[in-house]
Amino acid sequence: MTWQNELSSAFRRADELSQFLGWPVPQLDNYPLLVTRGLATLIRKQGPNGVLARQFLPHQEESAHHGLLDPIGDQAHAKTAQLIHRYHNRALLIPTTVCPVNCRYCFRKNELLSDGPFAQEREQTLNYLMQHPEIEEVIFTGGDPLILSDEKLGAWLELLATIPHIRHIRFHSRVPVILPTRLTEDLSDVLESFAGRFTLIMIVHSNHVSEWSDAAIKAVRHFRPGGLRWMSQSVLLKGINDNPLTLAELFRFFAQLDVRAYYLHHPDQVRGGMHFWLDLEAGRKVWGALHDQLPGWMLPQYVIDIPGGHGKTPAFNPEGHSFSGSLLDRSGQLIQTIQPSFPVSDSTARP
Ligand SMILES: *Cc1c(COP(=O)(O)O)cnc(C)c1O
Ligand code: SF4
Repeated sequence: MTWQNELSSAFRRADELSQFLGWPVPQLDNYPLLVTRGLATLIRKQGPNGVLARQFLPHQEESAHHGLLDPIGDQAHAKTAQLIHRYHNRALLIPTTVCPVNCRYCFRKNELLSDGPFAQEREQTLNYLMQHPEIEEVIFTGGDPLILSDEKLGAWLELLATIPHIRHIRFHSRVPVILPTRLTEDLSDVLESFAGRFTLIMIVHSNHVSEWSDAAIKAVRHFRPGGLRWMSQSVLLKGINDNPLTLAELFRFFAQLDVRAYYLHHPDQVRGGMHFWLDLEAGRKVWGALHDQLPGWMLPQYVIDIPGGHGKTPAFNPEGHSFSGSLLDRSGQLIQTIQPSFPVSDSTARP
């Protein structure tokens, strides 16, 4: 089956998925459902209380109203409808809002709804990039950039290749683990053809070893066009991987797969995903114990995005697990004070 067929035959209705799984799945009005058949098979094998069901099946808790609509403040740094430039020398490009799956904890879950802020503005985006010679790296994110066809991806890369100061291309994707059939020979050829022009980096998003089918493991081992470097990003999630043993297993697995662990994100306070959230002190305890179990080269950076668009900052406080409630910027200036154990409220919330 081609990856396109796999995607078009994915479950999009709770009643059909429920019938396949053999247990009830709620139909939510606010957040859509998308689960490929391959993923549904893994979910079924693990059962209704497994970490896959929790990550990917709709849940009534998503209707809770606390949490932020744009938790990391992307929109404060949007330069065009599809370009976010927060850090001096690198920018996020959002060429699509489609994903291979709808993760229930997604930090963009409110923005990715059909009336969300991201639109196709390729010309304006390219103009902005051309006018900003400090930008060395374009990071394809989304949605999921590997959902684009080879033609569309190739066209983006060709256009970016005409901008001399862009030297690195990075993809943030969940496709390698969720839809590994997408890693085709043709895609490999497209990337290979830019090998001398760009450094190519693939950051696969995965939170638990049980997400990985044999096909996904094989695909990632095999897919290394043009010296493509594989790295990982994971989100610390309550009830999924918020214990040191589960995370140690995950990072050992990445090491075996020759995927360098890059980021472990402290969860964002996103509306509709607060049931996955844990406070910083709890995260630091997990991290501290993890740190004792793994060699340094297997460890990712543990980071937190400060609400309001202030960017990523290291989340681990080596002196202790307690958290004063003050979030500082790099110069040591106080940006925000938040209650360490309670979610912040969204003063910018739209109705
Ligand atoms: C995370 C992020 C990046 C990438 O940062 P790195 O530290 O290079 O991984 C770039 N732009 C935005 C807006 C981000 O949130
Ligand atoms: S793949 Fe990424 S962007 Fe898409 S739903 Fe999952 S977390 Fe969100």
